[in-house]
Amino acid sequence: MSARLMPVLPGVTQIRGGLVNCYLIADADGLVLIDAGMRADERHILHAIDASGHALRDLRLILITHADGDHVGCAARLQAAARAAGGAARLCVPAGEAASLAAGKQSRELRAQGLLKVALRLVASLFAFKPLVCDATLADGELLPVLGGLQVLNTPGHTPGHCSFYAGGSGLLFAGDAFKNMGGQLRLSEGFNTWDERAALHSAVRLSALEPAVMCMGHGPVLRAAAPAMQRAIAAHKRRLQIS
Ligand SMILES: [Zn+2]
Repeated sequence: MSARLMPVLPGVTQIRGGLVNCYLIADADGLVLIDAGMRADERHILHAIDASGHALRDLRLILITHADGDHVGCAARLQAAARAAGGAARLCVPAGEAASLAAGKQSRELRAQGLLKVALRLVASLFAFKPLVCDATLADGELLPVLGGLQVLNTPGHTPGHCSFYAGGSGLLFAGDAFKNMGGQLRLSEGFNTWDERAALHSAVRLSALEPAVMCMGHGPVLRAAAPAMQRAIAAHKRRLQIS
């Protein structure tokens, strides 16, 4: 397996792109992709599909956590290519992000100032994405036929309609950008790219109550037995917000 592909659980692979992770699930019904990386990550995703022993036509679902260009960059091309190969490739997106995705826009303004604002303008084209044709919207609590039951959880904060996915049977959580595991530290979404830090806190508390065995995030390595680190991250976020 290439260094870009990290086994998470049997049939579940983390695909490490240049900046962001996405996840490929291979089960008896075919392939499911969670998030779709940046545009430049397409070759890594195609390689992961190949390494799974499947073909692009086996891609039955593309699930999206939120409307950021680093999470949807390959969605349209994979949807089209899989369909051209005879596959279903249904693009399913959080209900609260659907309008933004259909418009090819982020679902919240970035609150950057000064040099950061200038820097973001320079890289904006890398994060731009074209309007997506979504096949279905995902509602909170919905149970998807993936991994024996994959629950949709609304986890607003990073963006207004951000959602996570939880496979209760294996304790596997796909947290999108509700948490990030960078620099050896787990953190909640915070700062310029966060729509609402208080909402992010509530969502993190909801996710930590699941006590996931394995947590997969958009950014950083997979975390196992994540509950203590989630508690520490929540406590740090509360201190940041001056909530006791
Ligand atoms: Zn992200």
